[in-house]
Amino acid sequence: MFSKVPHAMASLPCSRVATSVYGFWKCKVRGGVSLWPGARQLCLRKGLLYGLMRCLSIPFKTLHGAGQSLGVTRLLCNVSCISTALQIELIPCLRDNYAFLIHDENTGTVGVVDPSEAVPVIDALTKKNRNLNYILNTHHHHDHTGGNIELKETYGAKVIGSGKDRDRIPGIDIALNDGDRWMFAGHEVHVIETPGHTKGHINFHFPESGTIFTGDTLFSLSCGKLFEGTPEEMLASLKKIMSLPDDTSIFCGHEYTLSNAKFALSIEPNNEVLQSYASRVAQLRNKGLPTIPTTLKLEKSCNPFLRASSTEIRQSLNIPASADDAEALRIIRQAKDNF
Ligand SMILES: [Zn+2]
Repeated sequence: MFSKVPHAMASLPCSRVATSVYGFWKCKVRGGVSLWPGARQLCLRKGLLYGLMRCLSIPFKTLHGAGQSLGVTRLLCNVSCISTALQIELIPCLRDNYAFLIHDENTGTVGVVDPSEAVPVIDALTKKNRNLNYILNTHHHHDHTGGNIELKETYGAKVIGSGKDRDRIPGIDIALNDGDRWMFAGHEVHVIETPGHTKGHINFHFPESGTIFTGDTLFSLSCGKLFEGTPEEMLASLKKIMSLPDDTSIFCGHEYTLSNAKFALSIEPNNEVLQSYASRVAQLRNKGLPTIPTTLKLEKSCNPFLRASSTEIRQSLNIPASADDAEALRIIRQAKDNF
């Protein structure tokens, strides 16, 4: 159901710098910087370095519309760098959810991550006259899967989710498990299982463009509630995400950052990076702008759930120095739940 990227491909991290500037996405590409006003889009450039001075013919399998695997041959001739672009469009849904459209410019392939409802996704697709090929669910909760069936019926899109949640994800077609690698229009996707919020929660990591969709595992300045998991499980899940490169862009399922910042500041008020970020978050939200994506580097510096060892946080919550990080995380979570 999925395939692996040939080893001949190597990513070029130089090509994936992207930052949000008050409603603009600035995307650094070879030869200059492009600005796309207004659109909440992130352009992710995937650079691929291929063979030396000869043509390479690399066969790979990919999944298309009806879900069948097709053998495709991509001919690559005497090229040192090839960029293919992924665009990510943020779609506000419900009260504070985000769905994300992923669009591969080269093939026109489109996926949506966690559509809590269908209408805003259909509107976004219709505006750009696009089809929908895939629905990716990080977990089974209704505010992440509520649009599955209508979108599937409208577009014939295939639903992708955790093998552990075959019985809980509406319309699931493709079940993936921890460590699986799946191809989205030639972009490798790593499946990272992150139990804690739910048993079958997964993250979709696009390593070549340095992007991860974390659903309700890691938020900006917080983590998901522990509905079906233990603090130990959540800590292990967060550590998996923390092991990714610091410049990884994190797309999470909710716009909770402003209230999360208030809690984070209440237990680590002297963290200057947090102070600065909280101020920026307030400015963005005052203008109705999203705080997502965030970056792993920023979260490591500010997110209390990634900082269970912090002396200041422990002192604020009376967590003994002898407590391990899982116990500290449990107490931080409990304090957040009651904040
Ligand atoms: Zn959830």
